[in-house]
Amino acid sequence: MSENLDKIIVFLVSSNAELNSKYSSKEYFNFEFIVSGAIPELSKNPGNPKLTGDNLIFTRRNKNGDLSYLTHRPKPEKNFDWIEVAQSFAYNYYNLESENGFWRWGQIVPEDGSYLCRDCGFIGDFLAGEVFPICDVCLDGDPGGPIPLSEGYWELV
Ligand SMILES: [Zn+2]
Repeated sequence: MSENLDKIIVFLVSSNAELNSKYSSKEYFNFEFIVSGAIPELSKNPGNPKLTGDNLIFTRRNKNGDLSYLTHRPKPEKNFDWIEVAQSFAYNYYNLESENGFWRWGQIVPEDGSYLCRDCGFIGDFLAGEVFPICDVCLDGDPGGPIPLSEGYWELV
């Protein structure tokens, strides 16, 4: 019997005891949610930023159990349902199709290039294999942003 280790693992890393006690570590169908007081050990990745303070860290665990960094969202706030955010991310990550050419937060960038945010006109350069980020300008893709996490907004130009 072997467990399927390859999975999205989302860490809620916070020193805020109140926030931590609101959530508990749990395994779901296509992701695991882990509440932690410390940043997990992530395999080396050039895109891996310095993470400080409270974060939601999205990783993928390979079959050997190693964690690779995918993206993060700083400063979790209490007014979001972070399980729902993790669930949306895992759903988007495993969905390899765009929505009529528009890509969602958390989907894998299919090819290197410049991508236009349909809502504000910001253009970001992304590499194949990264995950599509939140738009820093209009906050599309942010759980508190103007559109649902299930909607696409990045378009290859
Ligand atoms: Zn935008």
